[in-house]
Amino acid sequence: MKKNIAVLPGDGVGREVAKGATAVLEAVGQRFGHEFEFEYANIGGAAIEESNNPLPNETLELCKQSDAVFLGAVGGPKWDNLPSHMRPERGLLAIRKELSLFANLRPVIGFHSLLQSSPLKPEIAENVNMMIVRELTGGLYFGKPSERRGDNQEVVVDTLQYTREEIERIVEKAFELAVIRNKKLTSVDKANVLESSRMWREIVNEKAELYPQVEVEHMYVDAAAMKLISRPRDFDVIVTENLFGDILSDEASMITGSLGMLPSASLRSDGFGMYEPVHGSAPDIAGFNKANPMAMILSAALMLKYSFHLREEAEAIEQAVQEVLNAGYRTVDLQSTGGTVVGTEQMIDLIAQRVEEGSAISSIMGAYM
Ligand code: NAD
Repeated sequence: MKKNIAVLPGDGVGREVAKGATAVLEAVGQRFGHEFEFEYANIGGAAIEESNNPLPNETLELCKQSDAVFLGAVGGPKWDNLPSHMRPERGLLAIRKELSLFANLRPVIGFHSLLQSSPLKPEIAENVNMMIVRELTGGLYFGKPSERRGDNQEVVVDTLQYTREEIERIVEKAFELAVIRNKKLTSVDKANVLESSRMWREIVNEKAELYPQVEVEHMYVDAAAMKLISRPRDFDVIVTENLFGDILSDEASMITGSLGMLPSASLRSDGFGMYEPVHGSAPDIAGFNKANPMAMILSAALMLKYSFHLREEAEAIEQAVQEVLNAGYRTVDLQSTGGTVVGTEQMIDLIAQRVEEGSAISSIMGAYM
């Protein structure tokens, strides 16, 4: 198989971890006989520096012509005081919208060897395996008007808007995932207060009739926030709107102990996708070879699975990550779990080498499904 992949390293540690994704795909290519070609472009702060635009047209065009996209991370203190339409994060919101990437999938999996790094008690964090499905191109982050008003500009307005079609397609995606996972779907809303949530709930109930094998529960977002840290194992697939998903997925990320372990996929309805770590540009550690590249590397596994349907190859990456952790290698963010601390580049080399060689240790096969 031959695939063209756009790589947008972005800013800060994004530039360091992006190499992890390309290195493991090259290793997959060597082992399984595929060809991956990478073409690079700027986004976020790097693009502002180059062309005064957080999402230049060339970058967008490159992505549109590619089979899939890798994104590192965007943002940093240097650009924090720019007007909002010029900030690096605007590039990220715009590329999701322009590419119609409406479904953001975030698997949250507790690695046994990293249990010590979770702020939760090991007996609560153990065996967590959930998939958070967040709506990504609608809701409060995109609704208009979003502005300051009044004589003193001291009245503020944001708009939460969804269409039926936008809700239907994300809910369907979540049901499809629940069917191939553990057949449980938790829909998170605030239907006791918000009209948008009431329609959301209505649509989930309609779709539930098409998936009788899936157990459906509705949960208010405040209750979900509590349950994520008290009984995280109870969740299989969670589906929710943009803002709730943004907050809950960061909360859930801490179950695994480090943001540096969490990959994500943002998908269009035809399977085209952008793959990125959940974390940001981590300016506090950028440039020191300290970033954990595993979230980015596991995002490459998601790309193989969701965009290219190369399941065995994806599992080879997940297995390599598991083995390197089992062998005791850690990046700085995971050092509380003991073992040998290595830098970003060494961790990338270790994992890519295992991917290329294959291995014998038992895998977490399919854990990221
Ligand atoms: P962050 O995710 O960059 O960092 C939060 C904490 O986690 C920091 O202590 C950081 O050192 C640590 N961390 C993050 N990634 C890590 C990794 N791979 N390995 C080890 N430790 C890691 O979030 P923040 O500090 O709130 O934001 C920094 C910048 O990133 C801001 O400009 C923000 O807007 C941007 N941001 C971008 C994205 C994205 O590109 N998708 C997401 C979130 C934040």
